[in-house]
Amino acid sequence: MNGKGDKWRGGWNQKYASNFDSIFKRKKTMEKIYIFDVDGTLTPSRQKMTKEFREFFEQWALKNKFYLVTGSDLPKLQEQMNGMEIHSDGIFTCCGNQFWQSDPAVHPKHCDLVYENEFKPPQNLLTYLSEELRMSDYHYRGGNHIEDRGSMLNFSIVGRDCSYEDRIDYFEWDKTSGERKRIAKHIRNEWSELDAVIGGQISIDIYPKGMDKSQVLDIIKQDRIIKSNQYIFIGDRIEGGGNDYPLAQLMDRTKNCNWYQTESSKQTQEILEKMNE
Ligand SMILES: [Mg+2]
Repeated sequence: MNGKGDKWRGGWNQKYASNFDSIFKRKKTMEKIYIFDVDGTLTPSRQKMTKEFREFFEQWALKNKFYLVTGSDLPKLQEQMNGMEIHSDGIFTCCGNQFWQSDPAVHPKHCDLVYENEFKPPQNLLTYLSEELRMSDYHYRGGNHIEDRGSMLNFSIVGRDCSYEDRIDYFEWDKTSGERKRIAKHIRNEWSELDAVIGGQISIDIYPKGMDKSQVLDIIKQDRIIKSNQYIFIGDRIEGGGNDYPLAQLMDRTKNCNWYQTESSKQTQEILEKMNE
């Protein structure tokens, strides 16, 4: 019979056969979800993304899904990423204590706050930090030493307002003096409910225990429509108790997760290129 019904049935079969095929293929190939630290991973420390890396990353971002997770707050991240942040699927600032999303189709630059964890630092912690600031053997104070970001505290002996040269000088001095390690350890010992980790080149991030970068993995999983994904994290502060360590540690215990330690955006590019070979 060559009636209308047959033609319709033929069309139906063909259309759905190809749809089944694409659904099947999608299930076989897991979607790769990338999670990036920003400072030292996608950009030089406290500086804008380099021209060379931006050229690479602009193209890479067109074909890949990624989230950002930084110890900084949103204005600092935007300054460093210079517009590239809106191409991400989500932005975690303050070590995952704030989550932002944007829709470039609706608004080219605006990010909406999805959630925020509140942290009120205890007074005796602030007193202790002021005392360390006064007593440190480091010779220079650049300003902006205790920064309350609402959901975490950032502490720096040389100060966040110091120049690039002062930053490098403190970073080198800290390597030999071990000042940040000592202060972070003291905080963890004295305030059992708090965590303190070395962040970036000059500072220490302080927040309630567990409210670190590791909290982003669950949020990202909830944010994905396809649940069985492969998660890849790249950060420059994984080793040596840095602020990327808690997330890498959680990934070690979680299925379909991998992490990579990087030293620069140049190396991050090499890692990404190798992965796509
Ligand atoms: Mg970093």
